[in-house]
Amino acid sequence: MTDRNEQLFTRAKAVIPGGVNSPVRAFGSVGGVPRFIKRAEGAFVWDENGKRYIDYVGSWGPAIVGHAHPEVLEAVREAALGGLSFGAPTEAEIVIAEEICRLVPSVERLRLVSSGTEATMSAIRLARGYTGRDQIVKFEGCYHGHSDSLLVKAGSGLLTFGHPSSAGVPADFTKHTLVLEYNNVAQLEETFAQAGSQIACVILEPFAGNMNLVRPTREFIRALRELTAKHGAVLIYDEVMTGFRVALGGAQSLHGITPDLTTMGKVIGGGMPLAAFGGKREIMDCISPLGGVYQAGTLSGNPVAVAAGLKTLEIIQRPGFYENLTARTKQLVHGLKQAAEQTGIAFTADSVGGMFGLYFSGSLPQNYADMAASNIEAFKTFFHGMLERGVSFGPSAYEAAFVSAAHTEELVAESVAIAADVLAHMASY
Ligand SMILES: *Cc1c(COP(=O)(O)O)cnc(C)c1O
Repeated sequence: MTDRNEQLFTRAKAVIPGGVNSPVRAFGSVGGVPRFIKRAEGAFVWDENGKRYIDYVGSWGPAIVGHAHPEVLEAVREAALGGLSFGAPTEAEIVIAEEICRLVPSVERLRLVSSGTEATMSAIRLARGYTGRDQIVKFEGCYHGHSDSLLVKAGSGLLTFGHPSSAGVPADFTKHTLVLEYNNVAQLEETFAQAGSQIACVILEPFAGNMNLVRPTREFIRALRELTAKHGAVLIYDEVMTGFRVALGGAQSLHGITPDLTTMGKVIGGGMPLAAFGGKREIMDCISPLGGVYQAGTLSGNPVAVAAGLKTLEIIQRPGFYENLTARTKQLVHGLKQAAEQTGIAFTADSVGGMFGLYFSGSLPQNYADMAASNIEAFKTFFHGMLERGVSFGPSAYEAAFVSAAHTEELVAESVAIAADVLAHMASY
């Protein structure tokens, strides 16, 4: 049988670096050939061989109502018929901004952009412009898109400045970024004690999802809010992944915290390129044309993307949506843990709303180092075993995964049964 995925991968590599338009898609960290997706519907994706997978990637988060939801498609079609882009304001932009401000009360003013990277990059420029300070704080293992000052890894000791984690990023940029350990309250306190008056902002994933799912502790969350407030630094919740995913009001509603700025993306575009940053009016009013912080975009607030986002936001507010999503996600996590227990494999799992993490480890990770100490090889074996049997997870141990409203109780039970089989095979080696 000819493998179309393999053929397409070879062809892609001749014109696209590594054959992909975003590195994780190349399967580099799990090995093998990426699946080229032909179409998706509900909880399923089909590859170019015509093979069907139960999909827990969900386009890395946006597909919360299921792929190709008929109502979202209709909204997109209708908007597209009215024109694809105007480069001028529209009423629909106001409607989605009003909706987001209502659902996320910390957001008093909001600006639309086209990607999560743009949202975090702009929020950081704004925090620097507002405070007149240069230093920023991020946490190891949190991903905030690929702008220069965020592609940073930790230095060798406490309070050393970060080093570029990508070639092409000048050290002069990353010297303004302090990289701390997630959930390390003492280190955060010491950082503010030493450098508090120079810190423009702290940015974090309020439930980390880019080092697999890692929960913040209560103390960590409280310390972040108190220390930033005390030292006049802006607290940025990067909710590009968690926004409308862990709860209707995002992670901040679960934490009971009011951040100064929030970034959003993924779910708010419903599968189209749409993201946003927003927050306190006093800070947001520093943006051009009102203030001196420049930010712009030819396709910002694109009418077709806004239509997809608005319809998605409407669907997720229907009665029982999050109860159901959370219950299905818990069913999956519980089932997987039970299946692993019977095999004796060191494994655990966790979820928040419609987001979950699987760990080949005896305990839940608290930070990036914990995650890196888990059994990455076991994940690779599990990943390929599941893919082979028609269940798709993200091709890296460091990614959270996602359930959609289209994942029925039966599909989740089927996924668990398949996982039990894969884990039993793994245990027999
Ligand atoms: C995905 C993600 C981003 C980047 O969003 P893009 O749309 O891929 O640029 C930023 N922050 C977090 C937390 C993300 O999960």
